[in-house]
Amino acid sequence: MSEATTPAADAAPEKRDFIRQIVREDLASGKHTAIKTRFPPEPNGYLHIGHAKAICLDFGVAAEFGGRCNLRFDDTNPAKEDPEFVRAIQDDVRWLGFEWASLRHASDYFEVYYLAAEKLIKDGKAFVCDLSAEEVRAYRGTLTEPGRNSPYRDRSVEENLDLFRRMRAGEFPDGSRTLRARIDMASGNINMRDPALYRIKHVEHQNTGNEWPIYPMYDFAHSLGDAIEGITHSLCTLEFEDHRPLYDWCVDNVDLAGHPELLEPLVAKGLPKEAAKPRQIEFSRLNINYTVMSKRKLTQLVTEGLVDGWDDPRMYTLQGLRRRGYTPASLRLLVDRVGISKQNSVIDFSVLEGCLREDLDATAPRRMAVIDPLKLVLANLDEGHEESLAFPNHPKDESQGQRQVPFSRELWIEREDFAEVPPKGWKRLVPGGEARLRGAGIVRIDEVVKDEAGQVVELRGWLDPESRPGMEGANRKVKGTIHWVSAKHAVAAEIRLYDRLFSVEKPDDESEGKTYRDYLNPESKKIVRGWVEPAAAAATPEQSFQFERTGYFVADRYDHRADAPVFNRSVTLRDTWTAG
Ligand code: ATP
Ligand code: MG
Repeated sequence: MSEATTPAADAAPEKRDFIRQIVREDLASGKHTAIKTRFPPEPNGYLHIGHAKAICLDFGVAAEFGGRCNLRFDDTNPAKEDPEFVRAIQDDVRWLGFEWASLRHASDYFEVYYLAAEKLIKDGKAFVCDLSAEEVRAYRGTLTEPGRNSPYRDRSVEENLDLFRRMRAGEFPDGSRTLRARIDMASGNINMRDPALYRIKHVEHQNTGNEWPIYPMYDFAHSLGDAIEGITHSLCTLEFEDHRPLYDWCVDNVDLAGHPELLEPLVAKGLPKEAAKPRQIEFSRLNINYTVMSKRKLTQLVTEGLVDGWDDPRMYTLQGLRRRGYTPASLRLLVDRVGISKQNSVIDFSVLEGCLREDLDATAPRRMAVIDPLKLVLANLDEGHEESLAFPNHPKDESQGQRQVPFSRELWIEREDFAEVPPKGWKRLVPGGEARLRGAGIVRIDEVVKDEAGQVVELRGWLDPESRPGMEGANRKVKGTIHWVSAKHAVAAEIRLYDRLFSVEKPDDESEGKTYRDYLNPESKKIVRGWVEPAAAAATPEQSFQFERTGYFVADRYDHRADAPVFNRSVTLRDTWTAG
């Protein structure tokens, strides 16, 4: 007998990507006794599906290794930020299934950043520069040519301190001066060529009001924010790889851990002084074809009215995906399936849809709904015939129990389940032919009623009385099974048939003078009226179902009511896009 223990059948396999390996080693070697991560969104838009990868990684790693993860709003760019985004981001993180150890704002640290900047000035490592933005660009050099030193680079510490304090006091107009790190204008890494640490911006900030006429730059604020919070592993996407030397420069040269006096302002805010040296580790972004993910483009889709708002079910924001019927479990599954690496790649949209199907197939109760209705009268039943049939909620999960489905003489069936002239291989209804009505018996079509235009408006059929559920005759061979709802009992529903927002793989491709606007899928939203069984109408908002033979649908988060149901198609039962 083996000594090895077998993990519980439902335990998720241990994840072994390179980031988790680093964390494992850091804990094993004693470099850290506990780990800490953070998710640092800029509150200038809604989170999109790419952010789900960062969230699942930041919060997931912390949870798996018994650590903590902060949610930190990178609110250093006040002009673009909005409290509406701050609320939505928190909502999204919680919806995905995570909870932060502590909620922070970069603006909580403005005072610390300021003291840190003064320290760099006193150490001769930062200077106030009077070059204009344009001049700074000209001095910066190129990838192949070194930059030139600013003529203000050798100002005395006293002069720099005086100017910086006056910047802080609001004496100078926007853009007239910056505080720059004094590093190396000949560095092969352009980020190290005396980068700006502070800029002047007389803009009101949603948290600090008009207290600050200067705001810290991203690299300075982000690296020190991590250090202030005692972040051990600062996980970010690959585009920050070239910023890592500057990140380390800021952390090392400010040295918060060695200068606890710089952390004093935290005490007044009731925040702990827990500075540590963080390590930045980059991973590749999540890219999915048929989507756009940049906040700029998502914003334009909304402001130009190309979609119905940030939470339009076709949007690749988390709010949009949620409204579409994507579940947190399906997005976590996607992130796991895609994995974590440094390799850039584009994931096929069918992988995303496949994750949703997989989750909903296992969890979503089944219901019957008719989207394009055609009346079927079972002429051999009494006018007032009415009964209630028990249906399992889920074919593979008995624990979901049963529901009652009303059945009567007049039914709605799907128009496409009848063909007067059937194509080859047709298994559904034809004049004189038979099909099984799901759970109710076998029907034969005896009469096709048409209107003056020759359109089929009604079918009249015979329900084989020997084929009712439980009878011997119910088992006789009939090729097709179709779904139905009782016309008398069904509830009229608005059904929103959504599809991919873009009809090409690379809507970001701007060659030939096109933009993503040219690739919008005109078929991405169709609203129809259909009929649903009463147990579907009774759904709570955001409840998901498989409408049998039709697709996965969710009761709309905002518009659904039991007496006026609204369902969004989350995903079709099978992939209709992938060729082959
Ligand atoms: P965008 O470039 O779409 O505007 P952003 O990077 O500016 O997004 P932030 O709010 O700064 O958005 O992002 C917060 C975190 O989410 C960052 O750590 C960023 O690296 C990560 N992130 C953003 N997009 C993706 C993506 N597509 N895949 C994985 N992580 C992402
Ligand atoms: Mg960003």
